[in-house]
Amino acid sequence: MHLSAQTRVAAVIGSPVRHSLSPVIHNAAFAAAGLDWVYVAFEVAAGGARMALDGMRALDLGGLSVTMPHKDDVAAAVDERSDVVKRLGAANCVVPVGGGRLRGESTDGAGFLRSLGDAGFDPAGRRCCVVGAGGAARAVVLALVDAGAGEVAVLNRSEASGQRAAALAGAVGRLASGDGVAAAIEGADLVVNATPVGMGPGGEVPIDPARLGAGQVVADLVYHPIRTAFLERAAAAGCRTVDGVGMLVHQAALAFEAWTGEEAPLEAMRGAVAAQLVERDFSV
Ligand code: NAP
Repeated sequence: MHLSAQTRVAAVIGSPVRHSLSPVIHNAAFAAAGLDWVYVAFEVAAGGARMALDGMRALDLGGLSVTMPHKDDVAAAVDERSDVVKRLGAANCVVPVGGGRLRGESTDGAGFLRSLGDAGFDPAGRRCCVVGAGGAARAVVLALVDAGAGEVAVLNRSEASGQRAAALAGAVGRLASGDGVAAAIEGADLVVNATPVGMGPGGEVPIDPARLGAGQVVADLVYHPIRTAFLERAAAAGCRTVDGVGMLVHQAALAFEAWTGEEAPLEAMRGAVAAQLVERDFSV
């Protein structure tokens, strides 16, 4: 990498941020595309998002990724918002649009849809079941609805946040609870784990895999390990599986394209993530 006075800088803000894979993915993308850009991580404490955006304007950063705990604050502080950011109230990407103005984008939902597309699954008219109701789950629910899903059932540990996530899906959304949980899983064409359950070495699963069967597509947003216990159990039950690396790479690719105006080098990005996960011993 040759850095010079011409080099453009992009970054991620978050807290904690030192574990982030975004620098690995984006620097691999800039190198593969032959762009004189570099991507770094800034630890920004809760409450610091507005100052970070002022810094972005002052330093003319080429792009900014946003992770916990700043997504809501950034959505409130940018000058312009995409339709999805307005509806979610959260942004994971900031794009400079000229004259010091910043636009908030949300690339998680679109990235998730692209990962489903890679697996040949189109949610239009299909029954979907989303486990979890946090930021990632809400982005997924909205993306599924916008893609024409016939039904989006949300399952969640706490009912109040589950209700809020289901409400994002409007007429096709509902919260499944109690006796309705088993039917929501068994009747779904697509089941998505959008909780952190299964992250790391423990091998936990977010729902009873005995409810899964052939013909279903099962997606896990967790990407370390890449093959979670949930995906392994789903595959053993005859389901098609979609791992979290696809969404991770596609959401980053959408940011790359918004910042640089160039097509993202997906294979280089995917390879960089896989290599990093192997290095961190979370590859299997
Ligand atoms: P979040 O906002 O903290 O939400 C977590 C959700 O999971 C909440 O609904 C929470 O339920 C539920 N949950 C947490 N621990 C649980 C447990 N032990 N048992 C049952 N439910 C539990 O997190 P997030 O930002 O949505 O992220 C969720 C996961 O998606 C994380 O693992 C993250 O790494 C992953 N993710 C992946 C990508 C990707 O590109 N592949 C992108 C974004 C996120 P309550 O409402 O009851 O608290």
